[in-house]
Amino acid sequence: MERDYKDIVAELKRAFPKDTVKFRSDNHRPYIPNQVYTDRVESATESRWNLEIKELEINVPHRYVKSIVQVQIDVHFRDGYGFAVIPGDPSKEPSNINTAVDKAVNEAFLTALDSYQMGWRDLAPYKMKDWAGNPALKHLLDHPEPDSQTAVVQSRAIVDRHCLVCSKVLTGDEWDLLGQVPNLNRDKMTYCFDHLPNHLKRKIDKDNIHQFEIRTQLD
Ligand SMILES: [Zn+2]
Repeated sequence: MERDYKDIVAELKRAFPKDTVKFRSDNHRPYIPNQVYTDRVESATESRWNLEIKELEINVPHRYVKSIVQVQIDVHFRDGYGFAVIPGDPSKEPSNINTAVDKAVNEAFLTALDSYQMGWRDLAPYKMKDWAGNPALKHLLDHPEPDSQTAVVQSRAIVDRHCLVCSKVLTGDEWDLLGQVPNLNRDKMTYCFDHLPNHLKRKIDKDNIHQFEIRTQLD
């Protein structure tokens, strides 16, 4: 059964795993890598989403690129805009134009996703002086989602999912780990860690597997 839009949006807003937030090397500002967002949209929508570039203005004389993209989920649309300066002299280094186009489109994509409040819970602790300190958004900090911080407790938690192979009930950690396999519909392809096929296991970040194994040994 396909997820309905309301559940997809709730899934988009859900906090990311611990340490998802990275810091830029130049200005130390917190951010969440683009791939993390794309992966969440993929899994939340079970790959049923679309990204369309509605407008791309490449202005070489004035050295800027402007883009408007549209994210479509179900029958709903969200627009985002992005802007990038073309660095250097584009007539000598034409590849700088491509770089600026990528940047403007990525930014537009992130702006569109931001309207779903993706990553807000994760970024809020770093944005207190900015927007997260606003009393109207206090809920983002007050109710951290269960899978964000309470790792060890979580591994003991049980979810109502059974491994397809051995019928064992999955732990919360196993369920979370399944959620990290890109494009896997874990509602259908439900495996405990022991029975998770290797080709799927390889798609999970090694550090996360390692953390999972350490947590499991603690039990
Ligand atoms: Zn199993």
